[in-house]
Amino acid sequence: SRTQRLDRFISQNSAYSLSDTHLLLARKRILLDGVVACSIQQKVGRFTHVVLDDQCLQDNKPVYLVLNKPRGVVSATKDPKHTTVLDLVEHPQKHELHIVGRLDFNTTGVVLLTNDGVWSRKLSSPESAVKKTYEVTLSGPVTDEYIAVFREGIYFRYENLTTRPACLEILSEYTARLSLTEGRYHQVKRMFGFFQNEVLALHRVSVGAISLQGLEPGQSRPLTSAELGLV
Ligand code: URA
Repeated sequence: SRTQRLDRFISQNSAYSLSDTHLLLARKRILLDGVVACSIQQKVGRFTHVVLDDQCLQDNKPVYLVLNKPRGVVSATKDPKHTTVLDLVEHPQKHELHIVGRLDFNTTGVVLLTNDGVWSRKLSSPESAVKKTYEVTLSGPVTDEYIAVFREGIYFRYENLTTRPACLEILSEYTARLSLTEGRYHQVKRMFGFFQNEVLALHRVSVGAISLQGLEPGQSRPLTSAELGLV
């Protein structure tokens, strides 16, 4: 989204002009991610490390975190009354971060935070169909009848849409695991609401390949390269 041609970037971030860039290239005075630049056409993205002579012109690092959200925490970056997911994060760039998929106040589990808008848009886009898995505790018994209904999809009148095929696995009389490839407003609660079955507890176990491995409630960690690649 903020990708620029190298000559434009140089002219906007140094005393050199667009046309000076040719000379800088010929003299091998520009490094992009540690490699000598060779063309004015090269792309400079938001996270490209740019050095001119001995001066660093851009040094933005992408950050990708997974947080194990506890109950009673708001999926927002600021709130006047309650603890927010950002309050729980310790990171030098924490104020650059945004939340990828929000969870309700009392929902627990995987919340992703990043400063990379390209990545978060891709992850949230319906086309990506990233699988989100929830463990659900219900007030009433969950029966086999739910499985086919959730697979067929449920009509949401407000949005005038039918939910995508969802996979339900019954774990016990009052608990189940549900996998979705979209994230509508209060989607899990509304799907069980179709059966007038109230959700008492909701826990997001995973988003794509990203799980809560190693995280107690309230803790966060950077994504591993495997988790980043597999989403
Ligand atoms: N569905 C819900 O109803 N709530 C959440 O927090 C997440 C999915």
